[in-house]
Parts: sequence; C-alpha cells; structure tokens
Amino acid sequence: MNERTVEITLTGVTFSYGPLPCLHNLSLSLQPGTLYGLIGPNGSGKSTLLDIIGGFARPQGGRVTIGGRRLESYSRGELARLIGVVPQSFTLNFDYSVEHVVLMGRYPYLKRFSGPSPEDLHQVRHALELLDIAKLAERPVRTLSGGEKQRVMVARTLAQDTPVILLDEATANLDIKHAISIMHIMAKLVKNSSRTVVAALHDLNMACAYSDQIIALYGGKLVASGTTEATISPALIETLYQVPVTITAGTDDTPQTINYRYH
Ligand code: ADP
Ligand code: MG
Repeated sequence: MNERTVEITLTGVTFSYGPLPCLHNLSLSLQPGTLYGLIGPNGSGKSTLLDIIGGFARPQGGRVTIGGRRLESYSRGELARLIGVVPQSFTLNFDYSVEHVVLMGRYPYLKRFSGPSPEDLHQVRHALELLDIAKLAERPVRTLSGGEKQRVMVARTLAQDTPVILLDEATANLDIKHAISIMHIMAKLVKNSSRTVVAALHDLNMACAYSDQIIALYGGKLVASGTTEATISPALIETLYQVPVTITAGTDDTPQTINYRYH
C-alpha cells in the first residue's frame, strides 16, 4: 500500500475561464488524515477547485504546492501516484470490462512492457469487492446503470491507491446504501492510513456525518472553513443556499443534522 502522505497548500489562488472570474484569492491548507467536505451551490467553483488541486486547471494567480513542491513541477505520472480523482461527469461507453477499467487505476504503477503485478491485481480485486461490483467484473462497462458506473469510477480511484483522493459529487447518483458505503470507506482510509479526501457534496447531512472539516464556497470565494461542528450553522446554509434551516446538534453517536423547511 502507498504509505505516502502529503500536505497541499493553496495560496491566493485565482482562476478565470476566459474573461469570467471563477475563483478569487483562495487560500487553503489540506492536511493528511482529514476528510474535507466541499460545499456550496451550483456554480460556486467546487469542480474548478478540484480541477486545480488535481492539476487539470492552472490558476492564473497564486500558488499550489503538494508536499512542499510547486504543483507544476510534477509530471502527469507523478501526480497520478499522488492524487486520485472521481470526476463529476465521465463517459464510459467503451467495450472494456469493469475489471479492466478498475485496472486502469494501476496504470501509473505499471512498468513499461510488463503486465500487472500481483500487487496490482490484489488492489483491483480489493477495490471491486469494497465497491460491491466484484460480481460485475466481466461485464462491459457500457452495459451498467449510472450508479454502477459511478461505483466503477470510485473503485478505479481506490485501486490507484493515492494519498489524496478528490471526489466530485461521487455519491450523487447512488442509492443511500452505496452512498453511505463510499463515504464510510473514505472515512476509514482517512483514519487508518492518513489519506487526504476532499469530497464535493450536495447532501449536507452526508457532509455533516463524514467531514472532519468543511470548505464552503460561494461565488468563487471561500466563505467559511474549519471543523464541521464549528462551521455548519443555519446562517452559513442560508448564505450558501438561501434556504432556512434548523440544526439538531450531534451526540456521541449521531452527527449533527440539518432540517430543511419545505414549502
Ligand atoms: P460547481 O462545481 O460548484 O457547480 P464549477 O466549478 O463547475 O462550479 O463552475 C464555477 C463557475 O465557472 C460557474 O459559473 C460555471 O458556469 C463556470 N465554468 C465552469 N466550467 C467552465 C468552462 N469550461 N468554461 C466557462 N465557464 C465555466
Ligand atoms: Mg461541480
């Protein structure tokens, strides 16, 4: 198993798509052993922030470092051994089997001209089982349901075995059993092997239940960050979503809960 841990820092990061500003002067430090819940309304910049951390979008201003080194100094292969990404949208319409797609998570480790090692195959098998898709291993991915495809993407990222995992609404299309299961797997990875997980989540109760820290974006600005308990408040939720809520405090056994007022 990959034993590395890395700290990620963003300092004064600014990003625009053409003339349209998207992230403004964002500073953050992401620590190993922490699950970050990234929240904010549609269009607030969550996916863009994850793209920047993953090295897929380059900020026009500010600096991003991973393990003390500038992000731009890493090769694609080096980054792929450090950061695994489950994107918000993807297409899996080819004829590869589920197992083959999960094995793609091991590509950053494969030696040139050689097949997968026992360690690669072990990681693939383990990821298939954790995501409850071992029975689908031989199926062509294009024949799967949306939620099953989503779990294949998460399995691929688990097989990638990276110290940092970025989830962009990775549980959005899943039934509650599989959504909870994925967040539980992530929480265990964070706790037992000091991974850093950043999960963009729309389900705020899921965010409360699993996040150690909250990062809240609104209009491309960081409006709040800190421990989940200290950060989630009715005022913050109303600022982000313009929806009035009450909050039931957590106990030792249950996380705090956000109660929506439906009308
Ligand atoms: P979120 O993930 O929080 O919904 P995004 O990071 O996807 O937000 O988008 C932030 C803002 O940037 C939105 O206003 C969105 O319309 C805009 N945006 C995202 N991707 C592009 C793009 N490729 N070109 C132009 N604007 C974009
Ligand atoms: Mg998004």
